[in-house]
Amino acid sequence: MKHIPIIQVPIEEAELALFEERRKIYPRAQSGWFSSRRWILVLFTQILFYGTAWLNWNGRQAVLFDLVARKFYIFGLVLWPQDFIYLAVLLVISALSLFLFTAIAGRVFCGYACPQTVYTEIFLWIERLVEGERNARVKLDAAPLSVRKFSLKFVKHFLWIILALWTGFTFVGYFTPIHELAIEVGNFTLGPWETFWFLFYAFATYGNAGWMREQVCKYMCPYARFQSAMFDKDTLIVTYDSERGDPRGSRNKKVDFKAQGLGSCVDCGICVQVCPTGIDIRNGLQYECIACGACIDGCDQVMDKMGYDRGLIRYTTEHALVKKLDDKAMWKRVFRARTLIYGSLLGLIILLAAASLAMHLPLKVDVMRDRGMPKITEMGAIENVYRLQVMNTRELPRRYSIEVAGVPGAVILNNTAIDLSAATTKAFPIRVRVPANVLPAGSNRLRFVIKDIDAPEVNVTEKAVFLVPR
Ligand code: SF4
Ligand code: SF4
Repeated sequence: MKHIPIIQVPIEEAELALFEERRKIYPRAQSGWFSSRRWILVLFTQILFYGTAWLNWNGRQAVLFDLVARKFYIFGLVLWPQDFIYLAVLLVISALSLFLFTAIAGRVFCGYACPQTVYTEIFLWIERLVEGERNARVKLDAAPLSVRKFSLKFVKHFLWIILALWTGFTFVGYFTPIHELAIEVGNFTLGPWETFWFLFYAFATYGNAGWMREQVCKYMCPYARFQSAMFDKDTLIVTYDSERGDPRGSRNKKVDFKAQGLGSCVDCGICVQVCPTGIDIRNGLQYECIACGACIDGCDQVMDKMGYDRGLIRYTTEHALVKKLDDKAMWKRVFRARTLIYGSLLGLIILLAAASLAMHLPLKVDVMRDRGMPKITEMGAIENVYRLQVMNTRELPRRYSIEVAGVPGAVILNNTAIDLSAATTKAFPIRVRVPANVLPAGSNRLRFVIKDIDAPEVNVTEKAVFLVPR
């Protein structure tokens, strides 16, 4: 038997950390071109989210996903289960947009529009408001518990919880009419499912934006893991220009740093302090980077103070950096074949979806023949019974005419005109009689034509089978 030597490994060396202890991050507040764009997007998305739920349209909530009635209201549009193709199209559009924006500018969605980033930014704003700027927060956390520390923490968590509850309430308000929901909350008569989702969403907001923060982006979000597959050397990424910045070191503003053998980086650490994920972008692109641009703003301000050119940290591409491309050449490559294909596909799908929605008929009909045997009258005429499921997707009551075509002499014995209330669906029994000896025995084709009496251009033709006994 072959002898396998046993290597004695010291215990300390054999230990492998499977869990990295969290180091709390205290991002410094940052202003600047990118930071203000981020805040504009935060405001825009939040006004949209909290405000849209309260808008009214045609005497009902403008945007309501009524799961019980299986109807989705989006302003003038009413979508029924049959329209779920639009939901699939929406998912395709979202996926293609993500591919497109990632191919152009990496994780910009994460940095500017992802709900996790947006809520973390708002919760951080509250934290700063209550506990102060970065240094004050670090000091407060390190200090022993005191009345002041307890009060500040209490106020912060109280504000966080109020915001989280309001967010949970708004979320549920898109599925249950929000005015009714407000009354139910006020009277403590909320149903079990509404209570569950209200508290679940509030808890998720509080936990993710207040406590977990960058941990969600680092360890829970799958997008961070597969995004690199969508990057290439012409994707815009936040980059530290090491050729220009290194060797780093502090210096006096007045001395010639080049003569001292230094690069442009003054090693102030501002770029690390402002980073919401706590990374040092000078170590190269890391998967934790959400492309928020805070380090660009921070560094640009340092460069301004030192009297150096801006852009030591900037959005650029690997090709532009290596090949020293100017902005024009870089942008030309950013809009390469891949992004043009994604963009064209996206544009085409959006156009088709918009055209389909514009031509969307506010009338749907489903025909089913009664399973019973056809009836033969004394005169030899044959009668078949059908069930017409008619759906009026308009938010107005409509009157429809029903005709049969395709069989000579076929007549409807009942219900040649039907009434439907606004946005409803109803089944109507229809008896069709065909004179004797007109059709051969067996299955014969026939058509139902259903027409909106006041708007004849709204009409549907449905095929059916007329059975003649042998
Ligand atoms: S490295 Fe810069 S761009 Fe990336 S997350 Fe940190 S601050 Fe934002
Ligand atoms: S902010 Fe700019 S100058 Fe300061 S450490 Fe970062 S890269 Fe260097």
